[in-house]
Amino acid sequence: MNRLDHRDPLVFDTHELGRRPGALRKVSRTLEAPEGLGIIDVIGVPEKSELALELRLESVVEGVLVTGTAEAVVEGECVRCLEPVEFDLDVDFQELYYYPESDERHRARTAGTEDLDEDSEEETYRLEGDFFDLRPVLRDAVVLALPLQPVCQEDCLGLCSECGARLSDDPAHHHDAADPRWAALQGLSATPGDEARGEVADRRRGTKNSDTREGLAENQEK
Ligand SMILES: [Zn+2]
Ligand SMILES: [Zn+2]
Repeated sequence: MNRLDHRDPLVFDTHELGRRPGALRKVSRTLEAPEGLGIIDVIGVPEKSELALELRLESVVEGVLVTGTAEAVVEGECVRCLEPVEFDLDVDFQELYYYPESDERHRARTAGTEDLDEDSEEETYRLEGDFFDLRPVLRDAVVLALPLQPVCQEDCLGLCSECGARLSDDPAHHHDAADPRWAALQGLSATPGDEARGEVADRRRGTKNSDTREGLAENQEK
């Protein structure tokens, strides 16, 4: 009947509570983080890294109220500069696990069709015998607590769009105003002969311009 693996460190036994409303039990457990504890390819708790759980199991009329905290180190990548991001995560959660028969009553009350039954089952957690699986509750709590757009620092400047340098390491970083694509084209078309002719032409224009200006100045003085 029980599908839960009792040796799974994320499966907890509520037998000691004896189904007496008000009965309380505290559990501390440190385990290796399961896979999938985070946002895939963005940020999360690395599989098998240390995960510390503090749980308060409280017997209530309909089931067992589980209140807890999870502590772990989260690893990801800054979305702006791609540097590794790492921080301590401390997340709270609370969930009511219904007693199996209490859950049946709950489902009978809300039951309309088979489909509705399946929908409500997704949102309602329940004990299997004396055991419950913390995994889905833990995963939801961790994912909700994680930043969707992790950054290495709030004011991370990201990467230079021209050369890929990390701007926060070098705030004065800049390139000459010339468009690098234009510079590349000039480099391709410039041959030694062209360059020499261009210089001569510039010098001639320069001479001509200064003559004109001097001429104008002389005219104004007179
Ligand atoms: Zn960054
Ligand atoms: Zn650059």
